Amino acid sequence: MTPQLGFPWISAPKATRKGRVRPWLAPRMATAVLRVPDPRVVPSQLPLLTPGGAQIFVHEGARQALERRFMAAFGGSVQLAVTDNRRRMVTHSRSRGSLRVRVHMMFLGAPDRVRDALVGYVVHSNREASQIVGEYIDQNLHRIRASRPVPGPLKTRGERHDLVAILAELNEDYFGGTLSDVLVTWGRRTSQARARKSIKLGSYSAVERLVRVHPVLDKPWVPRYFVSFIVYHELLHHVVPALRGGGPASLHSPEFNRREREFRRYEQAVAWERKHIDRLLRAG
Ligand SMILES: [Zn+2]
Repeated sequence: MTPQLGFPWISAPKATRKGRVRPWLAPRMATAVLRVPDPRVVPSQLPLLTPGGAQIFVHEGARQALERRFMAAFGGSVQLAVTDNRRRMVTHSRSRGSLRVRVHMMFLGAPDRVRDALVGYVVHSNREASQIVGEYIDQNLHRIRASRPVPGPLKTRGERHDLVAILAELNEDYFGGTLSDVLVTWGRRTSQARARKSIKLGSYSAVERLVRVHPVLDKPWVPRYFVSFIVYHELLHHVVPALRGGGPASLHSPEFNRREREFRRYEQAVAWERKHIDRLLRAG
């Protein structure tokens, strides 16, 4: 056991394939590594297995901002690299007065408190900070590289609405440009004989890191801000951790609901949906 570490998912994997105990935090002054757990002991819905290596696009402004935090605390030269690693979330080493740090991209959009803790952990080997960093990784396991490659080509340009353009705007407006690890597509049209009883306008698949939007929204009478609202909601599932316990209430946590209301045309979008739900249910 590793009793000094309170992360629930790190106490389970005790040995590597070769039977050695996996070190969690390496000794002070050595190259340190924050690891994610052995995939064999992690619930299978978590995206930890290999996918095809999708390219990531790191937001350079966000990277530099984080690098400056490291430099201020370290007081010397710092090289920060951002990764899409599956196992090593944070690594660092020092040589000749300069600090090299590699962090998973989930940290670019992390709250201030978490980024401060990241710096405190790397620069000062602060134990409390490592706890905060570990908890953040724990809550963001779904952001670690997709475990299932997305089947088939993505369809982003609809007849009416372009999901890539919508995603890019949302990324700038609400996520500081830090969302480089999520995909979006129109869902497939299904043949439909009579009116639906319910309709899922959007969905988010964590194992694919993919937002799907129902093709019924790709219509001239559906305003762009409404499509945008649906994509925004699903993107929040990508960035806001679900609460423990399962079920829809844990997916839509108080934090999730607060962020959702930050959508600039929130009231208007909710009202539009209420007014047009019957037409959406009947639409082919
Ligand atoms: Zn939802």
